[in-house]
Amino acid sequence: MKRIAILGSTGSIGQQTLDVIGAFPDRFRIAAVAGGDNSDLLAKQVAQFQPKMVYSAKALDTHSPAESISMEEIAAHPDIDLVVIATSGKAGLKPTLAAIRAGKRIALANKEVLVLAGEIITSEAKQYGAQILPIDSEHSAIWQCLHGEQSQPARIILTASGGPFYGQPPEQLTKVIPEEALSHPTWKMGKKVTIDSATLMNKGLEAIEAHWLFSIPFDHIEIIIHRQSIVHSFVEFTDGSTKAQLSLPDMRLPIQYALSYPERLPNPHLPHLDLTKVKALTFEPADPGQFPCLKLALQAGKDGGTYPAVLSAADEVAVHLFLAGKARFTDIAEVIAQTIALHHPVANPSLEEILAADAWARQTAKDIAKRNITC
Ligand code: MG
Repeated sequence: MKRIAILGSTGSIGQQTLDVIGAFPDRFRIAAVAGGDNSDLLAKQVAQFQPKMVYSAKALDTHSPAESISMEEIAAHPDIDLVVIATSGKAGLKPTLAAIRAGKRIALANKEVLVLAGEIITSEAKQYGAQILPIDSEHSAIWQCLHGEQSQPARIILTASGGPFYGQPPEQLTKVIPEEALSHPTWKMGKKVTIDSATLMNKGLEAIEAHWLFSIPFDHIEIIIHRQSIVHSFVEFTDGSTKAQLSLPDMRLPIQYALSYPERLPNPHLPHLDLTKVKALTFEPADPGQFPCLKLALQAGKDGGTYPAVLSAADEVAVHLFLAGKARFTDIAEVIAQTIALHHPVANPSLEEILAADAWARQTAKDIAKRNITC
């Protein structure tokens, strides 16, 4: 019986993790849940799954005997075997570090953890012998392709759906409304990541994650557009052989693999792929010139230091303004670019310096948006 903590249990990945765990009551037990704003759902989860520990950012209306402790305490608790980091933004950073320092196995879905602090996270994971298992579908695919290989890959090829506006002329994008940007062609996800998919910022953040997870230089990471979201990524080896992982787009599969690794478990609720129904898989080059957010993210990743933290924070602010109807879709890249241009970077930053850069970028992006946006 694996005892699992889910930090961010009320979000999209958290709820799907509970769904997977529900299919294997003899294998997995929910030992802890943690949630942010949605305390009503968290209270329901506590009543249903009876965890031993809970963290809630807001007052929780529950009669459960669950011990109320911080996310860091949950992450490092001796009664936890695996910590699922399904929080969003920088919320997962400190709990992930706590889990690493306790030598835990970590299933990581929170992109910003590696984007903000990839160097600290990967070097501490090595030092403390903690395992980081990716939940993001692309990184799960790469991880599965690398399984059993002794050689470093020559190239990693991340696939991107291209989002709902792929192929549309840039001048049309100024008129995009949140509802259009939120209707993703293949994946059902949280709002922030769906908008990031439409701008391709998400793929840029994933390139930064892949760089840290698989210690691969940015020059060896390629991004291609694959509209069907069936091939979740490729790995090319030095002999010219290429491996891919394919499945229907359903996050429960990469979640389940991270929970059951190194085993694979049959789950009747997961859809199986029928290639004769898919018929065609298409691939096209992704031109960073066409996607300003992707270009900014790849550059921030290469420049390193506090740049990725600034990129990520400015993106969060800009996406939030767009969703609130206070900025245009095309303003997202503009706000991020202007914030990055004003930043004085710190090389090899400490956690405190990363968090300071994050706070600076949030304020700066808000100020820029206030000055520039006239919609
Ligand atoms: Mg992804």
